Amino acid sequence: MEKVYVGKNNEAFVICPKCGFERNMDATRFRNTKTNVTVKCKCI
Ligand SMILES: [Zn+2]
Repeated sequence: MEKVYVGKNNEAFVICPKCGFERNMDATRFRNTKTNVTVKCKCI
């Protein structure tokens, strides 16, 4: 599972525990839903 850090500017930083790849995403879609966020990394 990847960790998601949501910033103040509706930015989400996703860090893959396997390869350490950091990804910057828009977090507005995460706040509009209560379901778990699943982000697929390129290493999977
Ligand atoms: Zn990865």
